[in-house]
Amino acid sequence: MRLATAEISLAALDHNFKRVKEFAPASQIMAVLKANAYGHGLVAIAKRLSSADAFAVARIDEALALRAGGLVKPIVLLEGFFEPQDLPILLANNFQTIIHHQSQLDALMNCDLDGMLTTWLKIDTGMHRLGISPEQFSKAYQTLSQCEHVNPNIRLMTHFACADDLSNGKTQQQLAVFSELIADKKQQTCLANSAAIIGWPDSHGDWVRPGLMMYGVSPMLNKVGADHGLAPVMRLKTRLISLRVVKKGEAVGYGSTWTCPIDTIIGVVAMGYGDGYPRHAPSGTPVMVNGKQVPLVGRVSMDMITVDLGLETDAKIGDQVILWGPELPVEVVAQCADTIPYELLCNITPRVDYHYI
Ligand code: PLP
Repeated sequence: MRLATAEISLAALDHNFKRVKEFAPASQIMAVLKANAYGHGLVAIAKRLSSADAFAVARIDEALALRAGGLVKPIVLLEGFFEPQDLPILLANNFQTIIHHQSQLDALMNCDLDGMLTTWLKIDTGMHRLGISPEQFSKAYQTLSQCEHVNPNIRLMTHFACADDLSNGKTQQQLAVFSELIADKKQQTCLANSAAIIGWPDSHGDWVRPGLMMYGVSPMLNKVGADHGLAPVMRLKTRLISLRVVKKGEAVGYGSTWTCPIDTIIGVVAMGYGDGYPRHAPSGTPVMVNGKQVPLVGRVSMDMITVDLGLETDAKIGDQVILWGPELPVEVVAQCADTIPYELLCNITPRVDYHYI
């Protein structure tokens, strides 16, 4: 039996999907499943999302894995295609592609395809990562419209840089750039990630692209999923594999970075960065042992972490330890480790067992 387990609540996933619909009732939903469905298991999550209107992934191999898993819904490639030889694969598998660069337009114009692809022209309204600049938009749109291998129903999208911060005016600016550029078009639109679905209702458009919120986690600064009525889907748990008394003044773990201020019992937990637990989580990061919050102490190692249970503990070998989940928001652990919950979720490694409940 593997000790480190990601327990995935499909009921929580259903609940969060309903919340997306409540936030954006007029939009179709493109469920974002990249990076192994944010560490939750690509095919299992996709199979449960039977009400999604489409799936979105970053890479072609993720989309092919969905098809191999028997999923037949439309799939949108958020990074688009990279090489001209990808195009027949897109067509054969009914993958829709983002178009974000002139090189892709050139490839489409010069390809020899036996059919038409559905495309999403991505406009760079201010994120400056992927997208056609506002100045180039008109020409790119025209080129795409004239391409015989492109479905004339070209769809339009953009991505927000700062939607997680409601006090940041950049989202409104990006929205204004987008709205102005597409004002004379009847095409379907897609703008909103989770933060915009929750915080910027004006941005919803014909489609929304929820990722993190479907997994019950907050995309907003200093919030947790429950603040938006979301339920965490993943509970990452394991067991205590050893306990020992350590005397005041003795140090624990690699580098001897934490010294016991008083005599205590240190619990050794079967979870480390080899499972995806963040290596940089500092002493003091909360961990739940038998339903009680205790601090991580010392460095995170590959297979183990150590926690301070105190001398009065009744914990014993084999007891359950929860690293994050409904009882301990992953947002809190991420903040302690100076990262974001996205990274913690998608860093879960293949050594962790998955239980779908
Ligand atoms: N759309 C694009 C283009 C993305 O890159 C992402 C994720 O990074 C999403 C939507 C989903 O974002 P979130 O998980 O914040 O909802």
